[in-house]
Amino acid sequence: AAKQRGKNQLVIFEPALRERTEQWMQIANDLRGALRRNELRLQFQPIVDLQTGRTIGAEALVRWQHPLRGWMLPGDFVPVAERSGLIAELGGWVLSAAACQWVAWRQAGLGWLNLAVNVSPQQLRRGLLTQQFDQAIAASGADPHHLTVELTEHSLVETADGQISLLEALQQRGVQVAIDDFGTGLSSLSYLKRLPVNKLKIDRSFVAGMQVHEGDAAIVGATVAMAGAFGLQVVAEGIETEGQRRELAALGCHQGQGYLFSRPLSAADFEERVRQELTTAAAETVL
Ligand code: C2E
Ligand code: MG
Ligand code: MG
Ligand code: MG
Repeated sequence: AAKQRGKNQLVIFEPALRERTEQWMQIANDLRGALRRNELRLQFQPIVDLQTGRTIGAEALVRWQHPLRGWMLPGDFVPVAERSGLIAELGGWVLSAAACQWVAWRQAGLGWLNLAVNVSPQQLRRGLLTQQFDQAIAASGADPHHLTVELTEHSLVETADGQISLLEALQQRGVQVAIDDFGTGLSSLSYLKRLPVNKLKIDRSFVAGMQVHEGDAAIVGATVAMAGAFGLQVVAEGIETEGQRRELAALGCHQGQGYLFSRPLSAADFEERVRQELTTAAAETVL
């Protein structure tokens, strides 16, 4: 159709753009019903101790089983939710579901696990975060000391004082605050000093590059050193090779996650994995 309208480049691009906008609106529309129809699920990616390889917790990652499109990843619908005002509802659902899952672990004797939840900057900006968090805790009975909230570095750069006090309020409840995708935003030392933060998550782009580009290795090394100086924990994301694991451990990075250890798992598969590890560890103790 675009070709028939002539050789004008602008005309050629127009249908693609309209298609994208329509798809976007369609997704927003479907998402509105998704919560009601119970189509969202959480998967759990193990976070491991880099020395022992043992699971110490997980990051909850949201997925959507769309009736026609199949399983969708957050990249396909979280940005839509953020721009259509649905993120509050979605974010509230994620917090509740995560808190419930942690309680299920506790009931299964796995209450020592830590569970990290991704939070949108809009939940922070609109002042929803503590309210949604308290609601999730009250409804589930989860222990805030075993929960972490992750905010991307991008979303934290322009934090106003009111938002800082929301994060402080969470920390007072025992929650850990982590900066996600660390190194991709405008990290500065003064901002680390200003923010109530417990943990840095090194973005996977640096982990991917650290054995290839000196610059990436330098960023990883500097982040680990800086975390040490500030008394912060540090987690490396996107570890895919044994070489990366070894180098990160040598640099003093204690925790990590990535396909080398496990892809994100269903709740059942995650629990199975942790049980397997416990059985193996018990057998090793006996021997
Ligand atoms: P993130 O928090 O940085 O999550 C890590 C992402 O990296 C996940 O993608 C995970 O599947 C992927 N990943 C993990 N290990 C590896 C690896 O070794 N190699 C590679 N190439 N990738 C790996 P996913 O699940 O598609 O999530 C993408 C982003 O969506 C997340 O990035 C997070 O920012 C956002 N997100 C996920 N769940 C939620 C949520 O419940 N709420 C909000 N607001 N955002 C979420
Ligand atoms: Mg995250
Ligand atoms: Mg991340
Ligand atoms: Mg990331």
